[in-house]
Amino acid sequence: MQAFDAYLDGRFEPGEARFESLDPATGLAWATMPEARAGDVDRAVVAAERALLEGPWATMTASQRGRLLYRLADLVAAHAGELAELETRDTGKIIRETSAQIAYVAEYYRYYAGLADKIEGSVLPIDKPDMEVWLRREPIGVVAAIVPWNSQLFLAAVKIGPALAAGCTLVVKASEDGPAPLLAFARLVHEAGFPAGVVNVITGFGHTCGAALASHPKVAHVAFTGGPSTARHIVRHSAENLASTSLELGGKSPFIVFADADLDSAANAQVAGIFAATGQSCVAGSRLVVERSVKDRFLALLKERAEAVRIGGPLDMATEVGPLCTARQRQHIEALVARSVAAGARLVAGGATPAGAGYYYPPTILDCDGTDAPALAEEFFGPVLSVVSFETEAEALRIANDTLYGLAAGLFTQNLTRAHRMMRGLRTGIVWVNTYRAVSPIAPFGGTKLSGHGREGGLAAALDYTRTKSIWLRT
Ligand code: NAD
Repeated sequence: MQAFDAYLDGRFEPGEARFESLDPATGLAWATMPEARAGDVDRAVVAAERALLEGPWATMTASQRGRLLYRLADLVAAHAGELAELETRDTGKIIRETSAQIAYVAEYYRYYAGLADKIEGSVLPIDKPDMEVWLRREPIGVVAAIVPWNSQLFLAAVKIGPALAAGCTLVVKASEDGPAPLLAFARLVHEAGFPAGVVNVITGFGHTCGAALASHPKVAHVAFTGGPSTARHIVRHSAENLASTSLELGGKSPFIVFADADLDSAANAQVAGIFAATGQSCVAGSRLVVERSVKDRFLALLKERAEAVRIGGPLDMATEVGPLCTARQRQHIEALVARSVAAGARLVAGGATPAGAGYYYPPTILDCDGTDAPALAEEFFGPVLSVVSFETEAEALRIANDTLYGLAAGLFTQNLTRAHRMMRGLRTGIVWVNTYRAVSPIAPFGGTKLSGHGREGGLAAALDYTRTKSIWLRT
C-alpha cells in the first residue's frame, strides 16, 4: 500500500494518526494518509505565520516570488502525468479529465507568477500641499485553503497561486476523500524552493482538522470550496478570529436551450456539461431548461448520447464516465433519484445502480416537467440531469433563476438580442453563451446566493489576498 506524508514547515511528516484512502473503482484501500489533528494544524499555522513575518519570504521581492511560482508551474507541467494518475487513482476522476485539467493547473500558476510584480500600490491626490498619502498593498496574512475532493489540484491552485503572488503564506487542507494528488504536489512546492512554512499541505477530517484550521486565531482568511452546509460551519469557525472568507459552493446550474439553437452542438455541450467528472462538478449544467417545441427532439439527442457514453475504469484513456468518489456520494444520488421518481419524475435514461465493485452510477436523465421533484432544487453532484420545459423567454428566465444557487448558467440560442437580455437577467456568477464550462486564469469564477461569494481567477483574486495600508507623510 502506498503511503503519503503531510508537508509541514518544510518537512515531510507521516504523522501520528493515519487513515486509509479507498480506490473508488474497487472500493478497496490502496494508500494511507496522515490524519492531521488540532495539534498538527496549530504547528502548520504557526509555521505559516513565522514564514510570513520572519522568514526569507517576508523580505523577498515580488519578482523573486514570481520566479518561484514560475518554477512551480514548470514542475507541475513536468510531473503532469504522475499528478493526473494519482488524482484518478484516489478520486476516481477519469484519466482523460485529470490529464487535461493538470495542463491548465500549470497555466494558473504561470498566470499568477506573472502577476506577482504587478500588484501595485498608489499615491493618493489628497487636498493638502504638505502631505502625501501612499497606499501600500500588503499580504492579507496566513490563508487557510480548504478544498473538496473533486479537482483538488485545480481548486487549490486558484487559491495558492494568487495568495503567493500577493505574498501570503498558506495552510492547505486537502479533502479526506482523495488527498493523494495534493500531498504529492507538496513535493513540487519543496523542490521549487519555497522557504519552509510558506506552503503547508495537510489532510484530515472536516470536523477536526478543518474546524481547527478555520477557527485558528492566526488565520486571516479562509478560502473555502465545498458545500453550502459546510460553508456555514466555516463562517461560524472563522467568526472566532473575524477572519475574512471566500466561499465557492455548490450549484444547480440551468442549461437553457431555445428552439432556434444549434441542437446538435447544444446536445454535445449538455452531455459534457453534466456527465464530465461523473457530474461531480460545481458548475455541472444539471438543470436542462428547454423550449417545449424542441423538448422531445432534444431529449432524443441526449438519450442517444447518454446511452453511448463509455463507462469504465478511470485509468483507461477510453473511459468517458468513471466511478463516483465515495460510496456516500452514490447513496445520496440513489436516494435523490428515488425521491424524485416518487414525486412523479420520469426516467429517460439511466437511473439504475450497476452490479459489481466500485462506486459507479450511469448517466441519468430525469424528466421533471409538471412536477416539483426535489431533483429540480437539490444538488446531485453526480451524473443526473433534471429536465423542465418552457414556452416563453420570460418563463425560461424565471425557471432558470428559481433556485437557491447562482453559480453558472448556459444559454443556447442564435438570437443575439435575446442572448443579451437573458445574460443580463440571469442571477449567476458566470454565463456561458453557446458554449459551456470554458475557463481561463484571466476570467474570474464564482457565484451568488447559496453558491457563495468571492471570485477566483483573474487579477481581482490576487488583489483579494492583499490589504491596503494608508501611509501619511508630512513633507
Ligand atoms: P464538503 O463541504 O463536504 O467538504 C469540503 C472540505 O471542507 C473538505 O476538505 C472537508 O474536510 C472540509 N470540511 C468539512 N466539514 C468541515 C468543518 N466543519 N470545518 C472545516 N472544514 C470542513 O464538500 P464536498 O462534499 O467534499 O464537495 C462537494 C461540494 O463542493 C459540492 O457542493 C460542490 O458543488 C462544491 N464545489 C464547489 C466548487 C466551486 O468552485 N464553486 C468547486 C468544486 C466543488
